[in-house]
Formats: sequence, C-alpha cells, structure tokens
Amino acid sequence: MEKISIIVPCYNEEKALPLFYEELQKNIKTFPKNVCFEIIFVNDGSKDHTLNVIKNLSKKDDSIKYISFSRNFGKESAIYAGLENSTGDYVTLMDADLQDPPSLLKEMYRLVTEENYDAVGTRRVNRKGEPIIRSFFAKLFYKLINKMTPFEMVDGARDFVFMKRTVVNSLLSLKEYNRYSKGLFSFVGYDVKWLEYENIQRVAGTTKWSFWKLTKYALEGITAFSTTPLLISSAIGLIFCIVSFLMILLIIFKTLILGDPTSGWPSLVCIIFMVSGIQLFSLGIIGQYLSKTYLEVKQRPLYFIKDTNIENK
Ligand code: UDP
Ligand code: MG
Repeated sequence: MEKISIIVPCYNEEKALPLFYEELQKNIKTFPKNVCFEIIFVNDGSKDHTLNVIKNLSKKDDSIKYISFSRNFGKESAIYAGLENSTGDYVTLMDADLQDPPSLLKEMYRLVTEENYDAVGTRRVNRKGEPIIRSFFAKLFYKLINKMTPFEMVDGARDFVFMKRTVVNSLLSLKEYNRYSKGLFSFVGYDVKWLEYENIQRVAGTTKWSFWKLTKYALEGITAFSTTPLLISSAIGLIFCIVSFLMILLIIFKTLILGDPTSGWPSLVCIIFMVSGIQLFSLGIIGQYLSKTYLEVKQRPLYFIKDTNIENK
C-alpha cells in the first residue's frame, strides 16, 4: 500500500470546502487500488463555520484528519502543521478554493513514481483575471528576487506541490520562524518537474491577500533568502563617500585657487535631505533583518492546536 497525504490549509472556506471535497473525491477514485489517501484539513483560525464543515465531512470519511489552530497563524504555519502531521509516502499541498486542480494529482503521482522525479511543482502560465498592477509588481518581484538569490524562484509558482517523503523531511528540517514556502521549496533542491496551467478563479469566497499583505509577503521572501539589500545599502554608502570626497576637493580648489566665495545654500539643503533619506533607508533595511533575527531568536512555536482528531496531539 502507498499513502498520499493531502494537506489543505483553510481560512474562512466554509463555502469552498464542500465543493473542493467533492471534486477531490472524484479524482481520488480514479487512482489504483494500492494507493490510499489521508486528507489533512488545517483550520487556520477561521471566523466562519469552516471547522464545523470539516468535522461533518470527517464523520463520513475516516481518511480525514483535521487540526484546528487557536487563532489565525497564516498559511505558512498551516502548511508546516500539515507537513509535521502527515504520514504519507507522498505529500501534496492544496488550496481549498479549487485554484489547484485535483485533476493534476494523477499526473503528479505518475511523474514521481514512474519517472523518478522527487517532486512536482506547478506554475500558472498567465495571471488572467488578476489586476494588471498586481501582475506587474509580481513580475518585478520575481525579477528582483532571482537576481538576489543563488537558486531559482520560479515565476508564477504555486504552493501546489507533490513531494516524496525525503523532500518533506528536508522541508521539515528547516526550522525557521519566518517561513516562505515557495523559497524553501526552491532552497531544498531535488529533481523537480514543473507542470503548467492557466490561472483558475477561486470557486467561492474571497482571496485573503490584499495588496498590502502581498507586498509584505514579497519583502519577507527577499529578506528570508537574500542579504543583497544590505550589500546595496553599503554600496550606496561607499558611492556617497567617494562623491562627497570629490566635492570637497572641488570646493577647496574653487576657494583657494579661484577665490570663489562659498555659495549654494539651496543645493546644500537638497543634499542634506537626500543623504539623510538614504541613511534612513539603509537603517530601515538593517531594521528589517534585525526584526527577522529578533523573531527567530525568540523561537516561538509556529502554531497552537486547539482541536484535532489526530491521536497523541
Ligand atoms: N489560507 C490560510 N490562512 C490564511 C490565509 C489563507 O490557511 O491566513 C488558505 C486559504 O484558506 C486557501 C489558501 O490558503 O486555502 C490560499 O488562500 P487564498 O485563496 O486566499 O490565496 P490566493 O489563492 O488568492 O493567493
Ligand atoms: Mg486562492
């Protein structure tokens, strides 16, 4: 027997969950008889009836396990909890809104078992139905982060991945507090096959990602995987030192040789503004890393479980 664990983080998904479960079951049924499933729903502190929906489903289907958090800890924590509690030989992560089509599961399973890939990732080839501005910034983000990190972050990569146990164990061994799953998945390496599909709209409910949240998430991705911003601020500092030194030489030359009195207070004010701006900007960058370090050092747990049907928890 081979077991596949399906991890589904859920936050306010009462409407989408029944549709998701139905669609998933349709696809599970087409798998060979020697494959069994375990579905782990992680309720990430939902404010609606998500937990009830999950509990009702689990009454009918004993392959369903659920973990319910004490509050909303974020998708990354939900993923980690799911991975920690999964027991399958293969593990996959899926959104509850059917944006990750369950119809791909079979192909993913085939690629891992027959073609010997360690993992299968998915990426969307377009961002249809997404605001243009959002797509623009997303593209910019991937350009930036790929310049700054030694491994490739795939543009449009989703969290929908299918992995062998070895990959899961590698992910679990990364104990960091600031988790950025897409980056961690690239970081651990292995042979990954990328499947592509067109962007699909969520079936029900609304997205939990505002533009502001996405921006914060993007910055988190950069600080978690690259120290290049620190290098940039040092480089700007150095350039400014050189420029100011040249300017001093110029002023000395003008005053002593040409006898020109000092002039240009407006430009001086501009320079002060600019330089102090750059200083604050650099301090901000350092602050970002410092705050991340602060959070890491505290070693707080990633989540607290309030309710679950998994034994020994
Ligand atoms: N999610 C979660 N915790 C959160 C936010 C989202 O567990 O704090 C789950 C959500 O229920 C869904 C998945 O993460 O299953 C993706 O969220 P969403 O569809 O809102 O993101 P999008 O697809 O718009 O990027
Ligand atoms: Mg979604």
